[in-house]
Amino acid sequence: MNQYDVTVIGSGPGGYVAAIRCAQLGLKTALIEKYPTLGGTCLNVGCIPSKALLDSSEHYHNAHSTFAEHGIDLENLRVNMPQMMDRKAGVVKANVDGIGYLMKKNKIEVLAGVGSFVDATHLSIAPTGGGEAHTIETKNVIIATGSKPTVLPFIQHDKERIITSTEALNIREVPGRMVVVGGGVIGLELASVYARLGTKVSIVEYTDSIIPTMDLSLGKELKRVLGKIGIQFFMSHKVTGAVRAGDVVTVSATNPKGEEVQFEGDYCLVAVGRSPYTAGLNLEAAGIEMEERGRIKVDAHLQTNVPGIYAIGDVVRGAMLAHKAEEEGVFVAETIAGQKPHINYLLIPGVVYTWPEVAGVGFTEEQLKHDGRAYKVGSFPFKASGRARASGDTDGFVKVLADHTTDEILGVHMIGPRIADLIAEAVTAMEFRASAEDVARMSHSHPTYAEAMKEACLAATGNRAIHM
Ligand code: FAD
Ligand code: NAD
Repeated sequence: MNQYDVTVIGSGPGGYVAAIRCAQLGLKTALIEKYPTLGGTCLNVGCIPSKALLDSSEHYHNAHSTFAEHGIDLENLRVNMPQMMDRKAGVVKANVDGIGYLMKKNKIEVLAGVGSFVDATHLSIAPTGGGEAHTIETKNVIIATGSKPTVLPFIQHDKERIITSTEALNIREVPGRMVVVGGGVIGLELASVYARLGTKVSIVEYTDSIIPTMDLSLGKELKRVLGKIGIQFFMSHKVTGAVRAGDVVTVSATNPKGEEVQFEGDYCLVAVGRSPYTAGLNLEAAGIEMEERGRIKVDAHLQTNVPGIYAIGDVVRGAMLAHKAEEEGVFVAETIAGQKPHINYLLIPGVVYTWPEVAGVGFTEEQLKHDGRAYKVGSFPFKASGRARASGDTDGFVKVLADHTTDEILGVHMIGPRIADLIAEAVTAMEFRASAEDVARMSHSHPTYAEAMKEACLAATGNRAIHM
């Protein structure tokens, strides 16, 4: 029977990163994956394909809507959906092949099949396509089995017209109309893809704000800007059903007045969250405890109630984000190797890859108000940025929240061009516990979108912004 120091179950960004770090630390490591390709949700049906389609659809949208303003005239512009989807598949393949290469390079043994517990130190691997299962022995296990789309019990997903994000990443036509249930991250990113390509998109959201867990100012501005590309929002609507008849889906909802209303689409994308995935693991055989909402219970070291068995990523508490899973993978590998790593969960940024992009880190203004903490606000709009005017991306702003007394930056919330990358400056500043004054005094190259961060910090420290 093969023996390992560490066996990782699941090859998403949590699992494959944990495996690499374990191998770097000299631990004999195996990685079990039930799908034929490595990389998990993120690489196969999540972050990477969605960003590939966001980029393609943005090119089309710009060619269609903004090129003329730049003095570029095009004729006979059209969308070639099969080619767009094939390109996306190529991007995914390059990424998942890259993980295979990294496994070989780090001498990590990849075991293909469904992993399940025999007991706390033995795992069975059942080949996905059938065939005999085999058992391995392992000193430590890292469970990184991720999540799957949450289904509403009253909606029957046929995966053709009533779909989740997985199918929405693979539609080979431009739909005429799409109803999106849920104004969260997936709903907004995929609504953006199809609205840019010409689909009439309606978003039906339960709460009164889109991206309701981020600083509320961001959702407000994003809703305004996405309205300009034709996305319609139906807020405070509780979806109660969706029924397909032929190629038409009718979605029912209760509106704020308590009336029953209906929306029709060629497709209905249900994006109401994701649920931890533990099916088939046979956790009971190892005596592993669960907590609410199907998550695996872990302590501050990400260890389950069973010594030597850890869990990371979407299958445990916290934000369901690839970079959070990655940090936890490194954390657990280093813990197993006897190190004392640390994760600052407050400084894990959240990003929405719409256009304009949206990003936030640290406390939101709502949280600071709720906690009764005295704070200052500095804001800078992109319409006052020379770089944003040059590119024509003047929607959005950077908002900096700083402690009223010490000036320490407590939160940074941005909506605007390329701020998915700009948020890294805020994370760095906050990790080093910078004050708004510190950032305000640093040189930012001109003309860049990053100047908005400096200007917002100037605004937070006594209304000193130069360009507004
Ligand atoms: P996963 O990536 O879900 O991987 C789990 C793996 O475990 C899977 O490969 C699965 O097959 C395998 N597995 C499960 N059970 C077993 C078993 N018993 N045996 C063997 N293998 C098993 N996050 C971001 O940070 N940025 C983004 O831009 C972003 N975009 C997204 C877009 C979409 C459409 C979706 C759906 C998600 C997106 N996410 C994004 C979220 C991100 O994909 C997840 O947070 C991340 O993949 C979680 O990583 P993980 O390692 O915990 O699990
Ligand atoms: P979400 O939690 O972000 O949003 C779900 C939305 O659906 C919420 O706004 C909720 O109020 C609404 N909702 C729930 N039930 C409803 C109902 N019956 N009727 C109408 N609205 C309803 O979930 P998601 O968008 O599915 O994304 C899942 C996870 O994937 C998120 O945790 C996110 O972190 C991750 N993800 C991240 C990225 C990124 O980082 N850019 C991209 C995609 C997904």
